[in-house]
Amino acid sequence: MKKRKTIALVAHDNRKKDLVEWAEFNVAILTDYDMICTGTTGTLVETALRAKLSDDPEGKLHVTKLKSGPLGGDQQMGALICDGKIDYLIFLWDPMEPQPHDVDVKALLRIASVYNIPTATNRSTADFIISSPLMGSDYHPIIKNFSEYLNRVVGL
Ligand code: PGA
Repeated sequence: MKKRKTIALVAHDNRKKDLVEWAEFNVAILTDYDMICTGTTGTLVETALRAKLSDDPEGKLHVTKLKSGPLGGDQQMGALICDGKIDYLIFLWDPMEPQPHDVDVKALLRIASVYNIPTATNRSTADFIISSPLMGSDYHPIIKNFSEYLNRVVGL
């Protein structure tokens, strides 16, 4: 049986409406995935999708909620990416407001690049990812070989 893939969802406060609308529109696809979200995003997405599925009597929704982003949720998500537990990242960050956890936001985006995870930072890219024929396929992102870096000589 093909392994279920995991899609991570995060949105800053001014982008949560966008993400919830996007999730509602794509509910039929999202039920084929495990979702991992930062805390508040996860609560909003789960509530909206449950309503869409009339409270999900068939138990189709799989939403894991991490801590809220500014309280460490972004870092938890980054750690899951390092461990190969996340296949796609939809991260609607707010380009118009400074965030208290700006360094965590940057770290999450950075680690998604390090591990070559398909990442959307706006809604149109999220549309492209979710409608890609590669979505749900056996696609494995190529991960750069870091052995040269790992074996570098560090003078002590
Ligand atoms: P939140 O976190 O879903 O808990 O609001 C999002 C973020 O700011 O990283």
